[in-house]
Amino acid sequence: MKICFVSYDDKIPNETYDTLEWFGDYYKVPPEHFNREALSMADAVVIRGESERILDFLYRLRKTSEFALIPVIAVQEEEDEVVRHSVDFYALEYEFPEKKLLIRDIIEDINKRNKALYPLRGEASEEILILRYLITRKTSIKPLINIRTLKGYSYPQVEPFIDEDVFIALQRMSKNKLLNGKFVDRVHLCPFCGSAHLNFKEVCPKCKSANIHIEDTIHHFRCGYVGPESDFEIPGTDELVCPKCHKKLRHIGIDYDKPSQMYLCDSCGDVFEEPVVEVTCFNCKRTFDANHVAVFDVKEYSITSYGENVGKLGFIEKLKFDEVIKNYFNTVSFEFFKTMVNYSMSLEKRYGRKFVVAKIRIYGMEEFQREETYEKTFEMMKNASQILKENLRDTDIVCALNDKTILILLPETSKKTATKVLSRLIGKLSVFLPQEVAVKTEIIDNYAEVSKLFAEAPKQ
Ligand SMILES: [Zn+2]
Ligand SMILES: [Zn+2]
Ligand SMILES: [Zn+2]
Repeated sequence: MKICFVSYDDKIPNETYDTLEWFGDYYKVPPEHFNREALSMADAVVIRGESERILDFLYRLRKTSEFALIPVIAVQEEEDEVVRHSVDFYALEYEFPEKKLLIRDIIEDINKRNKALYPLRGEASEEILILRYLITRKTSIKPLINIRTLKGYSYPQVEPFIDEDVFIALQRMSKNKLLNGKFVDRVHLCPFCGSAHLNFKEVCPKCKSANIHIEDTIHHFRCGYVGPESDFEIPGTDELVCPKCHKKLRHIGIDYDKPSQMYLCDSCGDVFEEPVVEVTCFNCKRTFDANHVAVFDVKEYSITSYGENVGKLGFIEKLKFDEVIKNYFNTVSFEFFKTMVNYSMSLEKRYGRKFVVAKIRIYGMEEFQREETYEKTFEMMKNASQILKENLRDTDIVCALNDKTILILLPETSKKTATKVLSRLIGKLSVFLPQEVAVKTEIIDNYAEVSKLFAEAPKQ
């Protein structure tokens, strides 16, 4: 195993060197410049030093398509939570030797999964790298409470991959069904700057000072006076005396009671029942009513099966209808479909049980995609899949042959019924589909044609 060793200082303990040697080959590279040659040979990077330096290196590495997915092991003298969550394995310097077996296993696992991915053609997008990161690390993207960030949360695992706001990027990937978000926490943000560093405070409704306090009220039965407890207090004693009739109060419940509490403002002297909640943002220093606080849900993101396909293939630009369908449907493989058709043919021969094979051809999706955004195309394909699903029966067997052809086996169905089912389906589809996209159906009801279909598939 070859290790690229990056250290930001030279006070390296002998045990660390011994451990590096134990892995096999290691070569120490000067951290100042990004050594591509050394990285291209390495099975893993072991990096030690201060947090800022490690993160800086990691941000450069993860943005380089070629090296983005190299396993990274960080070694530090003092623990840093953000670094710990950013790298593939984290060890304090003294733990490094004893963790070597585990580290080797992790490196081997990641690299095995790295090798199983299709090679990338050219520079990969940030999204592809994030998907590949999730596939090769078998992990999800977890939010970490982080006081150093604006929203109070960060995603140290994937932030090194991207330039833009991580929350926006993850939300978009989730909207595109590449990731699946799960609620973790709700944060309150400043409506002006988006900061979570807010000071909520109860203030006086009259002068807006936070210098208020709460007190019991006392009701003196004898004269009917009601006022805050402090009005009854005699300084330097424990005694309570009514400020109105000047009688000493004796027993609670007998000559007086405490019916409620009230707030007193120590700035303007106002007395009130409910304070107002105001918020000051520590970032932009504005003050606003608590009702105007923005609410934001922090999520943990895991990869969807669709995201896994996209990540493995390494491209996202072109959506294929058959792949989208497979996410909405229990489609069958072409081999299984063939078996079922052959089985239906023998049932028909022997017992006269009718069946129909239908072929649906879709034209123009590729052209539509060339003109439209990824999101719009995905939405269109998703809805078309939904219509297919709703208008077929549970017993119908669907095979998404390629991005233009769908085969359907309708068992126990006459040609007349099949025609009805299909024309209803086409009717629904054509109402919804954009102008550029056209659908044609064909019922294949003789064996010669079925064989012909099988002979040409699944090429086109
Ligand atoms: Zn006041
Ligand atoms: Zn009184
Ligand atoms: Zn603010």
